[in-house]
Amino acid sequence: MEEGNRRFNVVAFFVIAAILALFAYTAYSSGHPWSLTCYQCRACNLNCPLGYDVAKFVVAAAVDDPDIYMSARNLQLRLDEAYSTDPDMTVEVDGERMTAGEAIERFGEGLVVEVRMLRVKDAAKYDPLEGACERSCPIELPITDTIRDLKEDGVFNE
Ligand code: SF4
Repeated sequence: MEEGNRRFNVVAFFVIAAILALFAYTAYSSGHPWSLTCYQCRACNLNCPLGYDVAKFVVAAAVDDPDIYMSARNLQLRLDEAYSTDPDMTVEVDGERMTAGEAIERFGEGLVVEVRMLRVKDAAKYDPLEGACERSCPIELPITDTIRDLKEDGVFNE
């Protein structure tokens, strides 16, 4: 029994070490290794004028994936622009949530819609970079650097 427990502990140790090594690798390859120090308190979300879940920019940098989705509360787009940016973006029309692709089929292009979920690279495109998120971070992480990086070309560090 003790031998079994020992083996389990050794395997668990190596699995956890491998996961941590993977995070370290992706955070370095995104060019934002400091993202690993974020402890997801979400203070940066509180003052975002677009109501973004700003901490997702930091998560995306840590895993080097600009395609993960984040929520938004105060972003409005014309439906044709939402659709051409990402047909899978979640939008809200008259209190009902749907993808931009479904909304185009039902309502045509002219509508202005509330955006509710979008990829971080698309969120960066509309971000005014005014820095409220960075000023709210208790450990002063350079959040706007990740947003600026994505704003340029939709990928990290290129
Ligand atoms: S405020 Fe700073 S530490 Fe907290 S979630 Fe945002 S980036 Fe991370």
